[in-house]
Amino acid sequence: MTTIVVLGAGYGGLRAVKQLVKAKVDAKIVLVNKNPYHYQSTELHEVAAGTKEPDEITFDVRKAVDERVDVVIDEVTRVDQDARKVELKNGEPLAYDYLVNALGFESETFGIKGADENGWPILDIDTAVAARKHLEDTLKNYKTSHDVNDLHIVVCGAGFTSIEYLGELVYRLPDLAEEYGFPLDKVKVDCIEATPKILPMFDPKLADWGVKYLEDHGVTFHVASPITEVKPNAVVSDGTEYPANTIIWTTGVHGSHVIADSGYDQKRNRVVVEDDLSVKGHPEEFLVGDVSAVPNPDNGRLYPTTAQISIAQADTAASNIAARIAGKEPKKFVYKSLGTLCSLGPKTGIAEVDMGGHWKLKGAKASFAKKKVADRSVTELTDVPGIMNS
Ligand SMILES: Cc1cc2nc3c(=O)[nH]c(=O)nc-3n(C[C@H](O)[C@H](O)[C@H](O)COP(=O)(O)OP(=O)(O)OC[C@H]3O[C@@H](n4cnc5c(N)ncnc54)[C@H](O)[C@@H]3O)c2cc1C
Repeated sequence: MTTIVVLGAGYGGLRAVKQLVKAKVDAKIVLVNKNPYHYQSTELHEVAAGTKEPDEITFDVRKAVDERVDVVIDEVTRVDQDARKVELKNGEPLAYDYLVNALGFESETFGIKGADENGWPILDIDTAVAARKHLEDTLKNYKTSHDVNDLHIVVCGAGFTSIEYLGELVYRLPDLAEEYGFPLDKVKVDCIEATPKILPMFDPKLADWGVKYLEDHGVTFHVASPITEVKPNAVVSDGTEYPANTIIWTTGVHGSHVIADSGYDQKRNRVVVEDDLSVKGHPEEFLVGDVSAVPNPDNGRLYPTTAQISIAQADTAASNIAARIAGKEPKKFVYKSLGTLCSLGPKTGIAEVDMGGHWKLKGAKASFAKKKVADRSVTELTDVPGIMNS
């Protein structure tokens, strides 16, 4: 029997499985994921800041997929493209006829000295929980240490994740100050960014509104200021040392290390895929989400990696596998973004939405739109009602 193996139960992997089941492909479907649960990566910053608990953004992978799908909980270590086998950390290698690789992202440190050792990344449930624990322990410690650096927080990078984390952080700080008895006016939050612009993907007025919101809530931005070193208790940028006992590392991501370890022709663990999302020379293999790089046919530039595009790619990959099994031609991937939404804490945000027109939103309306998209993404991944509380 034909075997389809799907790697990763994130946005791309779960959606691909859902669509393959819906297409009633005449094949065995195997889903491999390193954890027994799925997490909503787009909400990890909330767990890291403590505005959400892990169980509010996770659900059981086995319960989320059709009972005909074999779920393997194991870590993928390598894909042997020629032998068509997936190597696992614990189990026996898995042979496949078709592969969907959706192993997602990892932290990018750009080789900056000390970043790996001294920065707290936000990449999955474990790292988000660890970052939250460190933040809370450090703030709590001020009461006995009286070390001002316990109240200094540096967020490295001002990309999407950094900005969304800062929004949650400034929302939560007043409650933490009350709980742990530290002076809120002594808290210092610095955000250091290498490029000159913050939120360049938004209309400049919206981006300025978002930046001002965070500045009004105590964040100081340092732009055009590349980080050169991360010390155990300080970040060095543009010749200045920013002391802080909490250093959050959110400068960017690259694809899973499995890509490089498997010998793909890649850059930052991302592979430029063919127009049907298959890998050059391997029509049986599809890459979706953050391990792939998809050129925008309008300008040749790569689309930014997002949950939104991962879900869209999974639809095309699943339908192309179904087409191949049925002896039909695969189709080209066509993408139309529905917009960009950035939360600034649980109650506000900024958004540009392309649905029934082009809408620029800020404040509570943007926050409402973001929550709707997050809720919708769950139903895009599974048909099981109430799965988020399972
Ligand atoms: C804090 C934050 C906020 C974000 N906000 C947004 C947003 O608002 N909108 C948006 O569109 N995008 C957002 N993104 C980006 C988005 O989360 C990613 O682009 C998206 O998750 C990529 O989907 P994916 O399917 O490629 O991988 P993922 O969703 O990351 O899933 C990968 C899966 O593979 C598993 N896995 C990884 N390695 C292995 C292995 N070796 N073996 C087995 N399993 C493995 C992981 O556990 C995970 O379940 C955000 C990202 C972050 C970190």
